[in-house]
Amino acid sequence: MSQVKPSLASNATGLDTAAPILRLPKTSESETLKKIRHTTSHVMAMAVQKLFPKAQVTIGPWTEQGFYYDFDTPEAFTEQDLKAIKKEMVKIIHKQLPITCEVMSRADAEQRIRALGEPYKLEILAGLKEPITLYHLGDLWWDLCAGPHVETTAQLNPKAIALESVAGAYWRGDETKAQLQRIYGTAWETPEQLAEYQRRKEESLKRDHRKLGKELGLFLFTDIVGPGLPLWTPKGTILRSTLEDFLKQEQTQRGYLPVVTPHIARVDLFKMSGHWQKYSEDMFPMMAENEAERLREQGFVMKPMNCPFHIQIYKNELRSYKELPMRLAEFGTVYRYEQSGELGGLTRVRGFTVDDSHLFVTPDQLDAEFLNVVDLILEVFKCLQLKNFKARLSFRDPTSDKYIGTDEVWEKSQNAIRRAVEKLGMEHFEGIGEAAFYGPKLDFIFTDVLEREWQLGTVQVDYNLPERFDLEYVAEDGSRQRPVMIHRAPFGSLERLIGILIEQYAGDFPLWLAPEQVRLLAVSEDFLPFCEDVANQMRSLGVRVLVDQSGDRLGKLIRNSEKAKIPVMAVVGAKEVEANALNIRTRKSGELGELQVTDVLARLKTALAERGDF
Ligand SMILES: [Zn+2]
Ligand SMILES: [Zn+2]
Repeated sequence: MSQVKPSLASNATGLDTAAPILRLPKTSESETLKKIRHTTSHVMAMAVQKLFPKAQVTIGPWTEQGFYYDFDTPEAFTEQDLKAIKKEMVKIIHKQLPITCEVMSRADAEQRIRALGEPYKLEILAGLKEPITLYHLGDLWWDLCAGPHVETTAQLNPKAIALESVAGAYWRGDETKAQLQRIYGTAWETPEQLAEYQRRKEESLKRDHRKLGKELGLFLFTDIVGPGLPLWTPKGTILRSTLEDFLKQEQTQRGYLPVVTPHIARVDLFKMSGHWQKYSEDMFPMMAENEAERLREQGFVMKPMNCPFHIQIYKNELRSYKELPMRLAEFGTVYRYEQSGELGGLTRVRGFTVDDSHLFVTPDQLDAEFLNVVDLILEVFKCLQLKNFKARLSFRDPTSDKYIGTDEVWEKSQNAIRRAVEKLGMEHFEGIGEAAFYGPKLDFIFTDVLEREWQLGTVQVDYNLPERFDLEYVAEDGSRQRPVMIHRAPFGSLERLIGILIEQYAGDFPLWLAPEQVRLLAVSEDFLPFCEDVANQMRSLGVRVLVDQSGDRLGKLIRNSEKAKIPVMAVVGAKEVEANALNIRTRKSGELGELQVTDVLARLKTALAERGDF
């Protein structure tokens, strides 16, 4: 029996192979891009009305990715239409039309619009403040707009503009109103920027965790369960519990104590914490037994946060300074009432699990405990190979009333965070208005391979909740003192972390995280018993291994294993059985050839213990 060895497809571990990235300007930060995109969207609208005289224009703002414009048109635009529209746009650009502003009163603008016969513009006008500005493209076309724009269409580069897609949209985003056709486009300063943007978009589609999550069979969403509520398959659950176990192990070494708390509680608990007053719009509506209970606000709510529960456990006994710091930890699932329109994949969900912990410390212990927490977070990031992050000091906006607690307490907590960051010599920036309502935070903002930013771990200093819940401990001198709380979550949420990891690794999990670590492929079923025997030896080391029993030909077995992105696959034929060996290929390093079973076992053991490669 001959052993077929198809060559290993290029291993797409992504991280190391990603091409250097051209830094793209952000629309929100670049006046030039804003002008280009604004003007391009008008040029597009003008082109649409030239080609489709019945089309009515509505609104067309710039976005971080480009721009869009909504049209009321009798028929949906096709791919073909987009091409024609782009062609027409190029013609308009080449006319080098000056863009001029005309300022007028509401009455004059209304007259102008009525003469044009575009009812949407009248509705838009109603929402504008005087003076009204019209922008003209030459003397051929105008629109209501506040700018900014470039001076002439000659400043637009047709090679840096692309029309991307069409989608349905509703006027004012309201399903009961007219259905419109939205054209998405993008425009940049140079063709190079456009090319880089398109490359990045393609790459992000390839890495999209919603797509990969499905292909790898990690999680799913169903309509009948509801949006934003992921269901975790066995593979996804293995991934989750591997991450949980990893953090639990780190926490146990650092003196954390496990707790478990319920998913719902009386609304009173959240009145005392202040969540109900400051946060109720983001909570699921109260469950009440009857109308009277609902009116008295005495029902139950799903928990949006775990803190008040951990506080109850602390408060159950009079604590002594000898018990502090007390670090209570829970993988606590919380529920937040996100708008259904904002939900997508794992990065925004309605039910998610926070790797939550609350540390109750004496004021003297605060600085050291804060540093310990940061140390843990950095260790976690290191193990997950998340390297590209910066620290944000998320402080309150002193002009806003959404925070609880006095100025003095806020100063004190913000200073504690500043001290920690300075002591660590950590690169950081301040985010004013990014604090939690009860205290400032140190947030870790991760930049992925596509230069998108995600918030991961967080640490918060809190003097307010201990005050609101009247927490105490008995100090060394016998006096009653108030502890300080630290809220922290290195992952942030398991769901979001997994979404980010899938995209970061492009689905190629490091060995220790992979739901299936090793797959054994028998050249023929004669060798299945040998495979099972080896698999059992691996299992006794805690390796997640599968023997492919499908009976398919080797080529197909290998393709399936690659598609499932199994880190290590081992081919077994007559030669291997005779030599008590395995023919190994890995996603990371390709073909390793024949290795003794005992060698393979030893290498697996080491790799797993060190969370390293095979
Ligand atoms: Zn404009
Ligand atoms: Zn908390």
